[in-house]
Amino acid sequence: MRAYCHACEADTECRVERRDEVYPVKGEPIAVSAEVMVCDTCGTDLFNAELDNRNLELAFREYRQRKGLLGAEDIIRIRGKYDLSQRSLATLLGWSPATVARYEMGAIPSVPHSEQLSRLDEDMAYVRGLAEAKANQLGQLAKRKLEARLGQLGDRPERLLEAYLIAQHSTSDDMLCGRSEFDLDKAANMISFFARNISGVPKSMLLKLLWYADFLSFGRMQKSISGMVYCHNHYGPIPVAHDSLLEYMQSVGIIDLKPDASGMGEYVEAMVALRDDLFTEEEREVLNDVCARFCRCTARRMKTISHKEDGYIGTQMKEAIPYSYGLTLKAIQ
Ligand SMILES: [Zn+2]
Repeated sequence: MRAYCHACEADTECRVERRDEVYPVKGEPIAVSAEVMVCDTCGTDLFNAELDNRNLELAFREYRQRKGLLGAEDIIRIRGKYDLSQRSLATLLGWSPATVARYEMGAIPSVPHSEQLSRLDEDMAYVRGLAEAKANQLGQLAKRKLEARLGQLGDRPERLLEAYLIAQHSTSDDMLCGRSEFDLDKAANMISFFARNISGVPKSMLLKLLWYADFLSFGRMQKSISGMVYCHNHYGPIPVAHDSLLEYMQSVGIIDLKPDASGMGEYVEAMVALRDDLFTEEEREVLNDVCARFCRCTARRMKTISHKEDGYIGTQMKEAIPYSYGLTLKAIQ
């Protein structure tokens, strides 16, 4: 690489050296591992704007971390979270728009400003309060946009559950999802199907019916219905994150969970009709066969039956059950 050396008064060959340097940030000395350009001929340090910026950024980052201050990426993320423009964020917080812009360019926020932003990030009631207090300055459109976003984030916890379930059931291993991508809609309708067809179905039994349906489908068509990942649990094979799965179904009004007569367990009640256009003919047949085979079973009987399956015997506690076991089901084929 070549650059102009003022000592040699000529364009010369130069190199980049790494060395510990101290940069003052807000009056505090911050040591960073800096990159400096040096003339190969005479050894003089040469100014390079790009390297200098990078070193300063390192020093700023170190300073922010030391003081627990938010950085540019945090501010941009928080703004995105609430769908705010720089101007709307500034209005909410009572800052000038230029201040937000400076922070997003990498300037270090003051301690009170950083604390204000952290609170904005974590406390939606605070955001709602600010939106009310600053309604006039914000303007109708910005206020409505913010309220809509707050609604999405806060009043609809099932969105978070949905994201969690998708994450839990996403796998690149075909044998763990049965060659189908996780389909929450299909899972919901399988649950609705069993709850409608087997009245008062115990929760623990429903979870095993799902397993039989998905694994039987794989046994017959080499493809699961829902794409759910199942694991070996104390009481049998059940979907991963089953509590969140049923909580989600409850929150979107597909089922309701009620305490059973013994008060020890829960049973599942269907709240909405099935959308059976979602399933192929073969899948509907699988669901009907599983229903016919097990509808007269008790939860205890179903537990015993499922414990005899290869997929249960061949896996450890909490281990995911490969769909290949769908080919050797004993209770139904
Ligand atoms: Zn030189």
